Amino acid sequence: MAQHFDFLIIGAGISGIGAACHLRQRFADSSLAILEAMDGFGGTWWTHRYPGARSDSDLFTYGYGFKPWKGSAIASADEIRGYLSEVIDENGLAPLIRYGHQVRAARWSSEDQRWTLEVTRTGSDEVLTFTTSFLWICAGYYDHGQGYTPEWPTLKDFKGQVVHPQHWPENLDYKGKRVVVIGSGATAATLIPNLADDAGHVTMLQRSPTFFLPAHEHPLVPLLKPLNLPDAWYHEIMRRAFVARTDEIVQTAKQHPEAMRAFLLGEIRPHLPEGFDVDKHFNPRYRPWQQRIAVVPEGDFFKAIREGQASVVTDTIERFDAKGIQLTSGEHLDADIIVTATGFNLKLFGGIPFSVDGAPVDLRERITYRGVMIEGLPNMAFTQGYFRASWTLRSDLVCDWVCRLIAHMREQGHNVVQPTVPSADADMQRLSWMEADNFNAGYVVRAQAAMYGQGDRHPWKHGMEHAEERNILPAASLQDEALAYR
Ligand SMILES: Cc1cc2nc3c(=O)[nH]c(=O)nc-3n(C[C@H](O)[C@H](O)[C@H](O)COP(=O)(O)OP(=O)(O)OC[C@H]3O[C@@H](n4cnc5c(N)ncnc54)[C@H](O)[C@@H]3O)c2cc1C
Repeated sequence: MAQHFDFLIIGAGISGIGAACHLRQRFADSSLAILEAMDGFGGTWWTHRYPGARSDSDLFTYGYGFKPWKGSAIASADEIRGYLSEVIDENGLAPLIRYGHQVRAARWSSEDQRWTLEVTRTGSDEVLTFTTSFLWICAGYYDHGQGYTPEWPTLKDFKGQVVHPQHWPENLDYKGKRVVVIGSGATAATLIPNLADDAGHVTMLQRSPTFFLPAHEHPLVPLLKPLNLPDAWYHEIMRRAFVARTDEIVQTAKQHPEAMRAFLLGEIRPHLPEGFDVDKHFNPRYRPWQQRIAVVPEGDFFKAIREGQASVVTDTIERFDAKGIQLTSGEHLDADIIVTATGFNLKLFGGIPFSVDGAPVDLRERITYRGVMIEGLPNMAFTQGYFRASWTLRSDLVCDWVCRLIAHMREQGHNVVQPTVPSADADMQRLSWMEADNFNAGYVVRAQAAMYGQGDRHPWKHGMEHAEERNILPAASLQDEALAYR
């Protein structure tokens, strides 16, 4: 027996929980369920449990616009889950979330005007069927089941322990041990100071450097705190301050990349020991903001280097052996534990195969409508956040847009909406989802071939900049010839 819901959301991470709040608030009489593959909520913050796991965005913009954040700007995974737990309670979402429900396939029927989802239960062979009039994919962008590790044929020769941060063993004993963390992104920079206190020594091995920015308390905090403002006011002021700061960094990085490079290197120099080769280890080949700038709260990562608990090696791996890693330079890194902080495998729309009226949909051949829907897929929206700015700034905008679309359909008596390229746009160029020049982080580049595309003009472009989209999406007309209603 199929269970039917007016709305079905896939994923109970920050996007799915936010989407559910918006739907509950706007369409309280409609039925809604959230299907979540894992056994708890939080998505990223459920999966990542390595020591010190935390945001590198401020929570005033990473948190929802509708739920004030009261803590310090950077938050731990536990604090973020605590915040999401309050949101679930305050919005009565707990009974709507079906944990251990992995969506395996989504089929649209034009005759029935609904999606049918094939769902399996964790740890059982049971297959369930759900149907919905509107499907909202909030499955994030990477595979929660398997982190990315490059092909290293000799890794098996290493006799110590190998750990991926996405699958951190609960009781990993690293006390007094030599730990090598491979990778140089935000995860490595978060892990290293948190391992350093107990480990014998931690080495960060990187092929090439990353931009980091030591972060301190925002100067507004000591001014606002004594005023005891209502939470919502405090949140809004801080949110605007962080939005303005991100805008400024992004614009300056784009217009004056070398000045921004000099600024970022200048910010980290005072945190490092005298004579440290900043150019070799912390001056990336790419331009600032072609990848996310990793924030280092109070410079904790650099403190571990300064105090000799951690060190950085910029080199390439020749091979692994029983005792550690042989580097191309001839140096050998002895290790008891190797942590592969080498990133994610991108997984589009939770890996779900789609079909429309029996015909399989190859997403690589489709383009996106505003980065919110997909050409030819009826009654389906998805949430994809920003990479440079906080993810949730975009997910909030998407929520408003989707709710506006649903309200519009109800007012006009439409049951179905399907993005369709009008004949006037037949000459449109089909471009890749992300131009490499725009954002070239490894996980994005690796995934490029599997992604949907975008057009060369609105509304077929995928917005990546909050400064533009916060004006475009709220004002976008729904009487658009690219939206075919039935
Ligand atoms: C360690 C780490 C730190 C990060 N820090 C930041 C940060 O500071 N700022 C920022 O902007 N971004 C950050 N990110 C990016 C982060 O992924 C996003 O910010 C955000 O958490 C994505 O939320 P989401 O709900 O869309 O997806 P996710 O958090 O990935 O959650 C998706 C959920 O969907 C479920 N799901 C997927 N497929 C299926 C399926 N087929 N059936 C059922 N359920 C399914 C998953 O189990 C998961 O619970 C970070 C990422 C990592 C890994």
